[in-house]
Amino acid sequence: MPISPYMICGAIVFCLFCAHESSAAGAASEYTAARVDMVMRQIADRGVRDERVLSAMRKVPRHEFVPAAERRNAYRDTPLPIGEGQTISQPYIVALMTELAEADSSDRVLEIGTGSGYQAAVLAELVRHVYTIEIEPALAQRAKQALDQLGYRNVTVRAGDGYAGWPEHAPFDIIMITAAPDHVPQPLIDQLKSGGRMVVPVGPIAATQQLRVLEKDTTGKVTTKVVAPVRFVPLRRNSD
Ligand code: SAH
Repeated sequence: MPISPYMICGAIVFCLFCAHESSAAGAASEYTAARVDMVMRQIADRGVRDERVLSAMRKVPRHEFVPAAERRNAYRDTPLPIGEGQTISQPYIVALMTELAEADSSDRVLEIGTGSGYQAAVLAELVRHVYTIEIEPALAQRAKQALDQLGYRNVTVRAGDGYAGWPEHAPFDIIMITAAPDHVPQPLIDQLKSGGRMVVPVGPIAATQQLRVLEKDTTGKVTTKVVAPVRFVPLRRNSD
């Protein structure tokens, strides 16, 4: 299409307007564009189809959950350091685990391994309430702050060892573990509702782990499906 003088003029006017935009607003729209791109290339193109999950991933500002020095990397196809030797998972893994959870808007969810709080925020977009436990008190504190600042009223963060779950709020429709145990903790199986699902990476620390989905049927019988090889930080015990 030939460029008309009006279009050129329009472009100049638009650019002048851009120059007057505050740098914060400019950065925010850059992040939004990066997020849309992340969802298309890293997540939808790799087979995540659930539109509710894609829309939550487009909405949650991942850059608000990483340390300032990592912000410019927030939408890259990789895990990132979040302090205390821990990492925020790669965006695709967060989306895949969320899709596997088959979340419903009435669900109550338990997450073990709050880390940055990002996965909790993605789940919070889809369900009624997220209870999340983080063993590193400094991370629990930071995650709580980020979630509060972004207005997530339906997430409760607790510092502690998640191996034993959170019996006061059990049973849960969904349990998601975002650190790898070498076996599925029995207290967490016990705290899963009949008809509920657990998404968990299982395996030894030094090797690849298996991402598994456990389903508890209405009779209490548990079946396990192995989904994909993954690498997670280990689920530690308070005695470690
Ligand atoms: N879901 C996080 C990423 C998790 S990384 C996010 O979205 O950012 C795994 C986290 O599990 C780490 O922060 C680690 O400290 C925590 N963790 C390890 N063992 C744990 C345990 N027993 N109970 C609770 N959290 C644990």
